[in-house]
Amino acid sequence: MGRLDGKVAIITGGARGMGASHAKRFSEEGAKVMITDILEKEGEAMATELGRDVKFMKHDVTKSLDWERVVAETESAFGPVSVLVNNAGIALLKSIEKMTEAQYRRVIDINQVSVFLGMKYVLSSMRKTENGSIINISSISGLKGNSESIAYSASKFAIRGMTKSAAIEFGAEGIRVNSVHPGITETPMVRKSRVSKLAREIPLQRTAQPVEVSNMVVYLASDESSYVTGADFVIDGGLTGKL
Ligand code: NAP
Repeated sequence: MGRLDGKVAIITGGARGMGASHAKRFSEEGAKVMITDILEKEGEAMATELGRDVKFMKHDVTKSLDWERVVAETESAFGPVSVLVNNAGIALLKSIEKMTEAQYRRVIDINQVSVFLGMKYVLSSMRKTENGSIINISSISGLKGNSESIAYSASKFAIRGMTKSAAIEFGAEGIRVNSVHPGITETPMVRKSRVSKLAREIPLQRTAQPVEVSNMVVYLASDESSYVTGADFVIDGGLTGKL
């Protein structure tokens, strides 16, 4: 028996990186999964690789109409949505002086406004399950400052606060909302050349593999975490504990 048997999940940004790893683990644990991403070719290939209970939809997480379409099609393919993983995001690292207003707004739109839209548009479907779980992917940049990280940090700190507000708002309906704060994780977002240098700063002396974060996300999606809501889950090899 899988830990996610009977669950129907939407995972944004699932064509590659951590989102693809979450989709793989969800599928192994028995969930039916809708992967969404703006990367169509990679998303289709990932869904095909993962099998019959995984589908892909092209989805720009900044667009309300896309969210409405994704929730409706997921429900019609698999049934009401019980899990939403708001994972899609971008990292645009620039100094305050060099970052343009348009770039700043783009990061906020993709990383932060998307989380509002996801929670808003999934609600009516998730309500039908009386047992939903929303997992918002923040970062250790949502817990501490970093250089060249003004927009990214703003968006990731916001996700933490939005998670706690939503947990209060949705609690009485049995919908749990938690944030996950990964440290440096080896995905296409993180330049390989930076990884070995950064690893020396981490108490565990290495960066994370995506599946290590996925295992935390599986726990939060499953009924094993039935009394867990409004909480932050840090998975960073001890990095923030050092500060
Ligand atoms: P990734 O490999 O770049 O994957 C993110 C996916 O989201 C990409 O396929 C990306 O497409 C997609 N995406 C971007 N904009 C989108 C939009 N508007 N609508 C839908 N999809 C969109 O990144 P990752 O490292 O797996 O990161 C996943 C999440 O974890 C992000 O929220 C990130 O901030 C967070 N995180 C990552 C790390 C890390 O060290 N990797 C650490 C902490 C937190 P494009 O390639 O076209 O942009």
